[in-house]
Amino acid sequence: MLEDLVRAAANDDWDAVHELEKIAAADPGSLAGHLPMMLDLGVLWPPVLYRAAGDDVVSQVIDRIDSGDASDQLNHLLLILGHTRSQLAAQALRRWETSPPAGSDQLHITALAYALQGGWALSRDGASRDLCSTTAFELTMSPAPASQSPACPWCSSPLWTVLDLDSDLDQVREALVHTGFTGRLRVQTCFLCSCYTTLYSQITSDGGSVWSPHNTAPSYLRRSTEEPPSLLPRVGSRRATPYQADAWHEGGSTLGGHPQWIQDAEHADCTSCGQPMDFVALIGGADLGFGEGAYYVQLHAPCGVAAVCYQQS
Ligand SMILES: [Zn+2]
Ligand SMILES: [Zn+2]
Repeated sequence: MLEDLVRAAANDDWDAVHELEKIAAADPGSLAGHLPMMLDLGVLWPPVLYRAAGDDVVSQVIDRIDSGDASDQLNHLLLILGHTRSQLAAQALRRWETSPPAGSDQLHITALAYALQGGWALSRDGASRDLCSTTAFELTMSPAPASQSPACPWCSSPLWTVLDLDSDLDQVREALVHTGFTGRLRVQTCFLCSCYTTLYSQITSDGGSVWSPHNTAPSYLRRSTEEPPSLLPRVGSRRATPYQADAWHEGGSTLGGHPQWIQDAEHADCTSCGQPMDFVALIGGADLGFGEGAYYVQLHAPCGVAAVCYQQS
């Protein structure tokens, strides 16, 4: 059955591609044995299909890039390596960061930035860091308690509490372990202005959240004023894998795990130290009652910086 799906995907059957993507989220390992065939048949998209790739497949992808005659597939092949998060892939990406493979002049990012697309940060000196958690929990919406929020300095809408969770709760502690954060994580942002640019907040472990002085209004910002959603996410049941956040459908909001990016992955750079920030939660527009897009909450705990960005199709 999986083989039929792979063959259909190779013939541009997008339902089959979508089905494979769902399997890659719910049970990535079940695709592992079919990845050599996918690679042979040219099923290279979406790269999340290759999450469970073994060293044999990773080596084939690296060889294909090194051979220089796959430069029209270079972007897809590098994305695949990013999503494998394997040691072999890390070595190759570091090598290509200093001596880029054939076709790199057509790319918009350098080799190491492809790791970010798969949720890890690689530095040239050999260090690596997971930006996503290995465990994930559903987030369900409940009515937000009435409170006075400060106004957004740009549009005057009341700021929106996008998350208010405490690591006293086992699930929260587990989902945040990759960030090193403990305490009450409360993130306030502007639900309108975060649609135009990544918005930063300075946070403290006692639930403090303050608009960051580093926020810079883009010239295309539209300053309308609206009430934010009066909903607050609560932690629900554990997801079977870290890959089941869903940016498109109701019930997709998730704490921890890996985000489903609608566009390219967008790990914000910490305003304090410049490092890529950790992914914490996806809040889907579908769960907020407006159906579209998703908010991505990020954190760099050592610096006390949180960020929220928004993506839509
Ligand atoms: Zn605003
Ligand atoms: Zn930082």
